[in-house]
Amino acid sequence: MRIFCILVFSLLGLFNAYAQDDSTSVVLGDAQFDGEFSTIFAKGNGAAVDTLDVGDRRVRIVLRDDNTWFLIKNVEALEEDELFTSYWSEHVVNPYTKEPFDSVRYRTTICLVDSVSHFVCPHKGKVFSPFGVRRGRAHTGCDIPYPTGTPVYCAFDGRVRLAERHRGYGNLIIIRHENGLETFYGHLSRIDVKAGDWVHAGDLIGLGGSTGRSSGPHLHFETRYRGYAFDPQWIIDFESGTLRKNVFVLRRSYLSAYSRYVPESIDEEEEIYMTEEQIRAEEERIAKERAAMKYHTIRSGDTLSGIAKKYGTTVSHICSLNSGLKPTTVLSVGRKIRVH
Ligand SMILES: [Zn+2]
Repeated sequence: MRIFCILVFSLLGLFNAYAQDDSTSVVLGDAQFDGEFSTIFAKGNGAAVDTLDVGDRRVRIVLRDDNTWFLIKNVEALEEDELFTSYWSEHVVNPYTKEPFDSVRYRTTICLVDSVSHFVCPHKGKVFSPFGVRRGRAHTGCDIPYPTGTPVYCAFDGRVRLAERHRGYGNLIIIRHENGLETFYGHLSRIDVKAGDWVHAGDLIGLGGSTGRSSGPHLHFETRYRGYAFDPQWIIDFESGTLRKNVFVLRRSYLSAYSRYVPESIDEEEEIYMTEEQIRAEEERIAKERAAMKYHTIRSGDTLSGIAKKYGTTVSHICSLNSGLKPTTVLSVGRKIRVH
């Protein structure tokens, strides 16, 4: 099987190399094969014909009969991942209550999208009531009004952790994603998924409504990290329905109802106590830090020690820059990791 796959890959390479001259003949050294390939490897209409394992158990390559390929996730491997087994509850809104705030890093790098993970805006619209403290109460999400019955979409790939009615939230769906975040969809009129379901970005998960403590039909949308909510507008521009960045640096200070999204790179609360000069210095420092940041996209066969050597750093330094990354972590192909 392995030999067959290597053969297929070598041939795919040849097909690609000869694709430009529009000829069906393939030259292998001195020998020339005409037409035979089209009988052995007839170009089909894109049906999947084989799957290959890559270095990472969580990702697989699928070959199509038209000589193209694509990556898929291996759900069985994801099911065993600690992310989907620890702090998992299908009825408790926040199962992370035993996590001390100090256990969250000062800065956490979160890869929101990559070659196998996409984003779809749950509902495109204007934020009516933002994240933050309002009338003395912490509002842990964004409210986006819409008519009852509006479709609500899953933001990122993941697994439904909770899908049921919950006091103030009304009909609530909570989805845990591979990037470590959880997203909440509240006040729904209908729930179309159940706890344990694997969902993809863009899947219809329910319909909008006004159940629970709500003054009118709207989507109450939350983003949480280890149980702590942060302003979803840090990552999503709801008006355009787009993601603000592919890689998000979550600061611990964002995990508070008093920390609202600010378009600048400086925290609101920090800004209040800083002088003009300090702000400029901080901006310069952030710009320098950004310029110095280097990322590496994992390819098949990559190892952490190999990557560390390539970028002149150490495995422990790379781990310290990427949340949840350990020297023993299995690297997923396509994942971007920070190396500097
Ligand atoms: Zn709300």
